[in-house]
Amino acid sequence: MTFRGDRDKDTVCAVSTPHGVGGISVIRVSGPLTLSIVSKICAFLPAHPESHRVYFGNLTYAQSTNTPGNLEGRQDVIDEVLVTYFKQGKSFTGEEVIEISCHGSPLICQTILGQLVQLGARPADRGEFTYRAFMNGKLDLVQAESVLSLIESQSQQAAKLALRQLKGQLSHKLEEIEDDMTWILAHAEASIDFSTEGITVVEDDVVQVRLRKIEASLKELVATFKVGRLLKDGFRIVLTGLPNVGKSSLLNTFLEDERAIVTDIPGTTRDVIHGDTSFQGVKFTFVDTAGLRDEATDLVERIGIQKSYEAQNESDVVFFVFDIEKGMGPEEIQILESLDPQKTFILANKNDRIGGSKPLETVEKALKNSKFFQKIQDPQAFFTRRVFFVSALDKKVRSDVLNELVKEFADLQVENTVLISNARHYENLTRALENTQRSQALVDQGMGAEFLALELKESLIAIHETLGKRFDDQIMDRVFKEFCIGK
Ligand code: GDP
Repeated sequence: MTFRGDRDKDTVCAVSTPHGVGGISVIRVSGPLTLSIVSKICAFLPAHPESHRVYFGNLTYAQSTNTPGNLEGRQDVIDEVLVTYFKQGKSFTGEEVIEISCHGSPLICQTILGQLVQLGARPADRGEFTYRAFMNGKLDLVQAESVLSLIESQSQQAAKLALRQLKGQLSHKLEEIEDDMTWILAHAEASIDFSTEGITVVEDDVVQVRLRKIEASLKELVATFKVGRLLKDGFRIVLTGLPNVGKSSLLNTFLEDERAIVTDIPGTTRDVIHGDTSFQGVKFTFVDTAGLRDEATDLVERIGIQKSYEAQNESDVVFFVFDIEKGMGPEEIQILESLDPQKTFILANKNDRIGGSKPLETVEKALKNSKFFQKIQDPQAFFTRRVFFVSALDKKVRSDVLNELVKEFADLQVENTVLISNARHYENLTRALENTQRSQALVDQGMGAEFLALELKESLIAIHETLGKRFDDQIMDRVFKEFCIGK
């Protein structure tokens, strides 16, 4: 997909609302010929419409088009529409834009699009409106990506995060870093120029102070990716454990009244039941490896090592469930040993059957000699925060466990923190951080300004690529391939 070149000068059109039948649909037209094209089917538009004003009237076949029912001298009505006009420079794309709100019938939309194309507009490529906004300087690349995140956000936290990025919070932070890098580079270049004359343009320690500031900012941003990604995409939680310990009962308790969306996906090698729920504005996707329940033979081999590894790799968190009434057996220890304690929560289920007592010691004892226990970094914290005595029959389980999870993984005191949530940003900023750290080492070693400049330029390139101040087809492809037509 390459938009660049003359195609950018075309006037483009697309349905920007979801496909199918609805109350209304919106068709967007953007480009230099927008008004002249649309006027031919919307005769009610004045010659000089006001920007951001809505006009109402009949949208008709264009006079020149040879369409059925278009009798001589008569322009048949396609639909009664509202037309919003945006002047060049004052629209989302930066170009002259018209949005036609018609009735939400796919047939009407297709007919209108057909007319627009016959009159000289081109069907827009995926993401082309946002791409044009970027090319016309209305948005930087980070903001363009946040348009997509906002559209796709499935939880309040994800939407908030995307909106903050769209408003430029992350871009602003990156521009601060860029300023500091440019300052150092300008001084380094001057030092190179004056080096033969023995003039010191800037002292090394002054450069180091700026480099430390850049390093700290980049480090901070890179570290937010874990939380940012979780807020954006939500948590994926896998329930694992032996049959009949209560995994599906717990799944239902976690999914609350959203039980209806629990779906079977047949045809996979293992049938997986999953469902989404939202808690404190964060999305949680629960996965229960329920298809395993019927496989009675060779249990440990089937459920254990291999499946646990798979489940673990695909998830952010694993809920290991066992039946507290029966206690934890050797097969279960074996499953646990294949899990990463960092990701694991232990749910001792059916607690109602043992009269509500909490025999934490028995769990500790069962685990003490296991490889799982050896891998736990802070056993005391693990046993107080990660082991829950629960009953799938008790609705409180949901908030108790999810509260702890959110507290531990996505501290929501991040309202005003600048977060990154996009893998492209994470990769670029990690690269920028590494180059910055190499620059620092070079200054420490007393290497010349040339070396510093070389490294730091690489850092700056990574920042520029993130913001889209520097781009190529590969970068554009990666960003805009995710979009759909009409965005
Ligand atoms: P799975 O095979 O691990 O998914 O287990 P199920 O959710 O199918 O539960 C197995 C049986 O245990 C069912 O009869 C459940 O009703 C019962 N059960 C599950 N959780 C609890 C619980 O917390 N307390 C009690 N008393 N019964 C439970």
